[in-house]
Amino acid sequence: MTRIETLAVHAGREDFIALGVHAPPIDLSTTYPVTDLDVGTASFDALVGGAASAANPIYARLHNPTVGRVEKAMATLEATEACVAYGSGMAALTAVLLDARSRGGHVLVVRPLYGTADHLLASGLCGLEAEFVEAGDIAARRRADTALVIIETPANPTLDLVDIAAVVAAAGDVPVLVDSTFATPVLQQPARLGAAYVLHSATKFLGGHGDVMAGIVCCSEARARGLRVVRAATGALLHPFGAYLLHRGLPTLALRVERAQANAIVLAARLAEHPAVAKVHFPGLGTVRNAHLVGSQMAGPGSLIAFELVAGYDAAAAVMSLVRLMTPAVSLGSVDTLIQHPAGLTHRVVDPAAREANGIGPALLRLSVGIEQVEDLWADLRQALDAVRLSAAA
Ligand SMILES: *Cc1c(COP(=O)(O)O)cnc(C)c1O
Repeated sequence: MTRIETLAVHAGREDFIALGVHAPPIDLSTTYPVTDLDVGTASFDALVGGAASAANPIYARLHNPTVGRVEKAMATLEATEACVAYGSGMAALTAVLLDARSRGGHVLVVRPLYGTADHLLASGLCGLEAEFVEAGDIAARRRADTALVIIETPANPTLDLVDIAAVVAAAGDVPVLVDSTFATPVLQQPARLGAAYVLHSATKFLGGHGDVMAGIVCCSEARARGLRVVRAATGALLHPFGAYLLHRGLPTLALRVERAQANAIVLAARLAEHPAVAKVHFPGLGTVRNAHLVGSQMAGPGSLIAFELVAGYDAAAAVMSLVRLMTPAVSLGSVDTLIQHPAGLTHRVVDPAAREANGIGPALLRLSVGIEQVEDLWADLRQALDAVRLSAAA
């Protein structure tokens, strides 16, 4: 079996030698000439009905070869038959929700999860009733009209882990969607554990350089057909240039994930020792729910760290303005280190009571560790934490 590091370099590029190219061609056509109407009609029917490709792409909302290439690559990396790409992670989740309506009107969701995903589900905007439950209650809360179970592991922003295989068993014949954005296929492949849908905000690690917004869903070909029908009808497309950038990021995915993770392991341990820090949430320190899954479900702890400041909100806000090398910004999974305040930014849209109940408080910061030299990162973080501690002591 070819390993993930090798697959990441070569997936979606299998036809390059035959084509006589070394980089993916970018096809920017919005329409395609139809010189044989019978072929055109058959292609149109196939694509609108959810086929992955057809003899003629017809129109860019139905199919784009550059997007198709990165979809093929991601299906390979997640060990699924198919992958469907969208213009953002939220567009990808929306498509799965709209498609799920044909199976029923109820979804079970385990908190915490990405702020806007929580908001989309709680708002009922997609016409589904979302019930928020503990992972252990899924079997009991399943209903005849339950169309989907949604989990995120590691969860944003607390880094709690959810046992994918246990959730799949509890869900029975209800498909399970795993948002695997924080893990990437380098650390975890949820489809191998029975997840029906693997979702990524490809804006994060997969793109990896902070310059492309994209979302992908990896699943069986049968499920992908339903998603393509929704995409063709709603138009939540990934632009071919975005698809090119996404594909360009993949060969270094494993290197980036490994380096960022190695940095995070060092930083998490040092943060835990710093007197300005009250608590560190990091799967590698055993300080999150289900941390025992590191080493089995998840190959390593990843490179996201959440930590709470002793001196509360003011200290958290101060750290964000004191860092010089790290970028104080939302998003994650970029080559550079990002630091942000979940309660004030990414999880602003979550119901305040749910935020509180899930430990997303005023003192919490989330760090997305990049691939810089770790001592430079620590020097930056330490000077900010030392300054916060001195001002608290004064
Ligand atoms: C960012 C993010 C999303 C949403 O993706 P966008 O590309 O921003 O639309 C969903 N889930 C997780 C875990 C995320 O971090």
